[in-house]
Amino acid sequence: MKIGANYHTHTTFCDGSNTAEEVVQEAIQKGFTHLGFSGHMDPGVSMDYQAYIEEIKRLQKEYAGQIDIFRGAELDNVYAPEAVSDAEYYIGSTHFIPIPGSEIWFHTVRYGTHLEKEAESGIIGVDADPKILHDACLKYYDGDFYKMSERYYAFEAQVYDRLEPAFIGHFDLITRFNDLSKEDGGHFLDETDDRYLIPAKKALEKLVLYGVPFEINCGAINRGRKAQPYPRFELLRYLRELGGEILISSDAHQKELLDGGFDDAVFMTKEAGFDHINILVRKGVNDITFSTKNHFVTEGANTFIHNTNISSGTELNPAKNTSDSINGGTLYWKHLSIK
Ligand SMILES: [Zn+2]
Ligand SMILES: [Zn+2]
Repeated sequence: MKIGANYHTHTTFCDGSNTAEEVVQEAIQKGFTHLGFSGHMDPGVSMDYQAYIEEIKRLQKEYAGQIDIFRGAELDNVYAPEAVSDAEYYIGSTHFIPIPGSEIWFHTVRYGTHLEKEAESGIIGVDADPKILHDACLKYYDGDFYKMSERYYAFEAQVYDRLEPAFIGHFDLITRFNDLSKEDGGHFLDETDDRYLIPAKKALEKLVLYGVPFEINCGAINRGRKAQPYPRFELLRYLRELGGEILISSDAHQKELLDGGFDDAVFMTKEAGFDHINILVRKGVNDITFSTKNHFVTEGANTFIHNTNISSGTELNPAKNTSDSINGGTLYWKHLSIK
């Protein structure tokens, strides 16, 4: 089983290594049918949103018929969604914990304010530098990382109410440095300890009710930073028990890693009891299952992939909080069997 789709992709507009067009060409080379760009819009990393949107629109036109490109964004839990108003979908990601007493606990703030580099930002970055986490933990949580991660999940649990994203990004990013040794500033808690798992599971229980998928994010394993994709196996299995839906993302910052970690993620997904993942599609455009041999056929305005290996008629579920800028209406989630 090969997945020819990724919806969590960074470029030189934010902190990626390749231009959007280079990534499109790589995706086509890899046989991808769907590619979603998700530039960072967060207090640590952001971009010239208008220039980004214009370029993705250009690529959508330029490469129509070769690959279906989606115009997305990765919006942080800190910021109000009007920042990404012209996106077809956006990911809801939590890269920060508001400090105790911060107004950000109670509402989102305007994009471009409360920047991480500002001394009075009122937020703690969880994935930038282990020293930031350590120092903040000492300062605000008496050095108790279980307490700190509990606050992270209290914030993460609000991500749907605050942002209304199409899917939820790297659920347990708070563990970003946990696989480093203590000497390297990591390994600050035991991820199998109930003091860690119970608050995380509570956040899953809340978020699963909204019916948007969670991503299995391979970004950190691809860059040698983590032993497992986000979310780790215990949480993924619990998500399955709760009836949650998933998709697989590479969180690619380099074009070579567009499908990096997908095989490991599929393996873990099956072990956790899932029999399918989801891919995001535009109705009528490449909305059939990927196979290694695709033939593009143009009918009217739409280009389809003609493929004889697939069974047609798979159900499409409207994807909440998305918009299809080409056909109108929403984008759709489509099940892809991983049995
Ligand atoms: Zn992220
Ligand atoms: Zn990302």
